[in-house]
Amino acid sequence: MNAKPIGPIPPDYAGQPVLHVAGRSASAWAEAGTPLYLYDFGVVAARIARFRTAMPARVALHYAIKGNPFPPLIAAIAAQVDGIDVASAGEMDKALAVMRPADISFAGPGKRDVELEAAVRAGVTLNLESEGEAERALAIGDRLGITPRLAVRVNPDFELRGSGMKMGGRASPFGIDAARVPALVRRLVMAGADWRGFHIYAGSQALSAEAVIETQAATIGLAARLADEAGALPPLVNLGGGFGIPYFPGDVPLDVEAVGAALAGALDRLDTRYAIELGRWLVGEAGIYLARVIDRKESQGETFLVVDGGLHHHLAATGNFGTVVRRNYPVAVAHRMADAAEEVVTIVGPLCTPLDRLADRVALPRAEVGDLIAIFASGAYGASASPQAFLGHPPVREVLAGS
Ligand SMILES: *Cc1c(COP(=O)(O)O)cnc(C)c1O
Repeated sequence: MNAKPIGPIPPDYAGQPVLHVAGRSASAWAEAGTPLYLYDFGVVAARIARFRTAMPARVALHYAIKGNPFPPLIAAIAAQVDGIDVASAGEMDKALAVMRPADISFAGPGKRDVELEAAVRAGVTLNLESEGEAERALAIGDRLGITPRLAVRVNPDFELRGSGMKMGGRASPFGIDAARVPALVRRLVMAGADWRGFHIYAGSQALSAEAVIETQAATIGLAARLADEAGALPPLVNLGGGFGIPYFPGDVPLDVEAVGAALAGALDRLDTRYAIELGRWLVGEAGIYLARVIDRKESQGETFLVVDGGLHHHLAATGNFGTVVRRNYPVAVAHRMADAAEEVVTIVGPLCTPLDRLADRVALPRAEVGDLIAIFASGAYGASASPQAFLGHPPVREVLAGS
């Protein structure tokens, strides 16, 4: 039977005969129970170091924690980045445990008054998503007698080409249409708020350096034009992020060095501080989901490996989190990484739904009941982006390695 291709195993693990993470074998990490997410902090730290080398020194690095809000991981990352971006009061509380309030910003539509108030009290910057939200934040600041720290999220009039998720160039619940931004900035300054600048996020999961370079140049141009029209210099311009990672066959890693080199030449249009906010690119390839084979079964000539993990922990790997065509994540039999393929198998989870398919007709060395299956590129949009309560299985274990 014809096998379907799998995505590329991250270079940190690809050459290993037996999967090791932070110097310990996968089976040792799995001893305390499966399924689990294993996050390798060494890989995250190497990403942060690579960003620092590639990017101009003027560009701050923020971690967008919605990609992976596991508290020990946030704490380890916080010690090495310049800011944290959050998208709910729950995330804000996690960030406040590890980062100065002045280096935290809070974006997302539909912030409730209790959330706005919590941010104003804490001194966290609110990335305003509408004029209505701006008025509520100003009123809350007045009532509390605290000057609110307010940035304006702009709905740009362009999008990040080739990105997995586009967030600009169209009607949007995110940000305020660029044409109305100067008036809002003037309003905030007149009202006595501490205006913190612009937040411009144009998309996610981009692998083309050329597309990121083009978007960043357009973002800086837009920020300069809006600053000019508003008659106020933004203290910070958050350029968004959108750096992607390879998941699927044919995906090529983003050339971050090329992005940094181009950005160095574009920053001078505006005399300000800049930030880039990244989730997936920092943590995605550092995460491995490990599940144990519970059963092997045959049906109409096909072999199924039934494992103890599935869609309820890892919705994205089953192709049910924002993908149009289902494709296979990078997957391996953990103790036989270098062995030749012996059979074509479909790997399914324990849920009673045909959607629970972690790998579809992949060629692997033979795996027996009790063996571990590793799904790579699983560090972002995994545990927290999956319907863990669905079907009543236990929640997934998460472990930070190498910190
Ligand atoms: C989701 C999101 C991010 C993180 O995106 P990644 O693709 O994980 O890097 C950053 N900023 C905003 C505003 C977001 O909504």
